[in-house]
Amino acid sequence: MASRSAAQSKLNTVVEVIGECLDSEVCSIYLLREGMLELFATRGLAQEAVHVTRMGIGEGLVGTIAEQNETLNLAEAAAHPDFSYRPETGEDRFHSFAGVPIVHRERVVGVLSVQHVDPRRYEEVEIETLQTVAMVLSELIASAGLIDEENRGGPGPGQSGPELLRGLTLVKGLAIGNAVYHQPRVTIEHVVAEDTEVERQRVLLAFDRMREQIEKMSSQAEFGVAGEHVEVIETYKMFAYDEGWARRINEAIDSGLTAEAAIERVQQHTRMRMRQIDDPLLADRMHDLEDLANRLLRIVSGQLGTAASKGLRSDTVLIARNLGPAELLEYDRRRLKGVILEEGSLTSHVVIVARAMGIPVLGRVRGLRGMVREGEELLLDAEQGSVTVRPIPAMVESFEVRTARYRERQAAYAALRDVEPISKDGQRITVMINAGLREDIANLSLSGADGIGLFRTEFQFLVSATLPARERQTRLYRDVLEAAGDKPVVFRTVDIGGDKTLPYLRQEDSVLEENPAMGWRALRLALERDGLLKVQARALLEAGVGRNLNVMFPMVSEVWEFDAAKAIFDSQVAFLRQQKKPLPKQIRYGVMLEVPSLAEQLDLIAPNISFLSIGTNDLTQFLFAADRSNPKLAERYDWLSTSILRFLQRAVNTVRTYPVDVAVCGEMGGRQLEAMALIGLGIRRLSITPASVGPIKQMVRTLDIAALEQAMIGWLASPPADLRAAVSDWAIAQGVALD
Ligand code: PEP
Ligand code: MG
Repeated sequence: MASRSAAQSKLNTVVEVIGECLDSEVCSIYLLREGMLELFATRGLAQEAVHVTRMGIGEGLVGTIAEQNETLNLAEAAAHPDFSYRPETGEDRFHSFAGVPIVHRERVVGVLSVQHVDPRRYEEVEIETLQTVAMVLSELIASAGLIDEENRGGPGPGQSGPELLRGLTLVKGLAIGNAVYHQPRVTIEHVVAEDTEVERQRVLLAFDRMREQIEKMSSQAEFGVAGEHVEVIETYKMFAYDEGWARRINEAIDSGLTAEAAIERVQQHTRMRMRQIDDPLLADRMHDLEDLANRLLRIVSGQLGTAASKGLRSDTVLIARNLGPAELLEYDRRRLKGVILEEGSLTSHVVIVARAMGIPVLGRVRGLRGMVREGEELLLDAEQGSVTVRPIPAMVESFEVRTARYRERQAAYAALRDVEPISKDGQRITVMINAGLREDIANLSLSGADGIGLFRTEFQFLVSATLPARERQTRLYRDVLEAAGDKPVVFRTVDIGGDKTLPYLRQEDSVLEENPAMGWRALRLALERDGLLKVQARALLEAGVGRNLNVMFPMVSEVWEFDAAKAIFDSQVAFLRQQKKPLPKQIRYGVMLEVPSLAEQLDLIAPNISFLSIGTNDLTQFLFAADRSNPKLAERYDWLSTSILRFLQRAVNTVRTYPVDVAVCGEMGGRQLEAMALIGLGIRRLSITPASVGPIKQMVRTLDIAALEQAMIGWLASPPADLRAAVSDWAIAQGVALD
């Protein structure tokens, strides 16, 4: 390869050498040119066929290899269903056939094949040799310019046309953009090693670093990250310490490859073998191994960092297995148009943050990373729950029409900013937003909402590398209050623990919780580790000086928990008073109703609180015993069910006689039909995701609440078989404006 001869003569030499080594009468190289596989060099076939014989992708054995990006090893070539005989080559004498794809930058650019007169299957080491040669050839072919740009952009493994992948809509919306991997795939620049010993050392060090990283991930996972994550890390560990994997990479280095090429070659081989096994579980594990091999490649090549650190160059749809909220926030918001995750669930933090940022998210897209290549155009439809990969122009056109219509709708909602949500029969609904990050504050004036009904203070903790000091907390709370002006803000004290773990809050006594949502979280943790709550109380009291401060406690299950939490605030107030420090003008306390047990004590707690906010996200999961982050249950239970509505009806009726504001702050309130039902139950305050403010105002303004309340009494007294259908039919008949 190092010789200075022209590329064609190198190819001629390669087919001779390989044919000889593998004791094969025929060795041929086909390269992709103008969309066809052209015979470029051969030993054993008729020389007149060189640059004459051409095969389409998918045509014959060679075309099949290119299409599928797969190795074939056949004792009897003619017996294969894809076999196609080319008389000009004179290949009818040959029985056995083996071929490997030549891949450059993840694209098949050619095929290297051998043929033999006698029927025989090639040995595994012979196939590996072919694969190694194919890698080396790819470098030669690319540097000699034997493949042009157009061909480089040619078909991938079996994927040349558009493809529709389905997933679960996590944040609604539409987006067009190019696929960008959160953790980009490494491009291998050099395949042939200059010094094998150096390459060995590089791989050795990379393995060490990778194992360190996995150990770190695993120690962080030990204190309560959701089950699936833990399983993945266990699998990572298993692969990271797998002697066989390391040995195969070293063997590939011995054959003259660079560390990067060796890792990739072994990976290619594994991919090929895994493809032959039809087992979904193994396919999942294969993804884990791909992940890990990619991590090893990144370490060895020094191509570290996520796509965020490199910067986005065009409108982007980001692809990741999963993301943390902080990782998402690192991206340029002007370019980031959408996110697709292989995992993810409706209530995971990254999703709540994305929702606040107005970025559509599609989750649970299985096998995503095998289907989409970096840079490919994607039409993300997080309304219907799908993504189109490699769309044809007509698809892009119709998608653009839909996007325009979607934008018009959004603009129409934005126009409702200054319009009050007053119903047809003259009742005013209070529509507030949920927030949690500094970035969210702007949404208050943009949406024209009545206030912030739920400020999730734990978000600041989640996106910080260390525990936010009191001053930092104070600063954020003060900025929020300042931005809100006269509008109310309800600060919820930290709801951490369970699945919202903080690496820096690791406690010796924290154990891996089997049911983190029902575990040591929110107020349960805060009352035990009251230092945290004391600091937060001080920060809130200081931020609220001279203003109205609303403090809400999450996950209150019994009255005494509220009393204990309020006592902590009272003692801080007493301390500040004693120090002659200024205080808020007024402090109001409230609780979330999200643990069903509190519903049985509402009459006991109502005299002590100023407001109650119903967290339907948690409430539903506890009422139905259905994990809110389990995608298998995502669609099983309906918010418009007799159980939920009757439960809420009873709660609302219980507190009706007390001067307590009742709001709903779960995701339920952000959906038009569900919000309508809540209003029908007597709820007049909603705190919802900012994007829902417009749609909810629109619905309210076309609603006759008195009529709805009557209908609701009927539905809940003798529930129809399909309550959702009944509610929906009623809304349509009444002319309620729904999307
Ligand atoms: C809820 O549980 O409904 C809620 C609003 O709180 P979070 O989603 O933060 O648990
Ligand atoms: Mg909750």
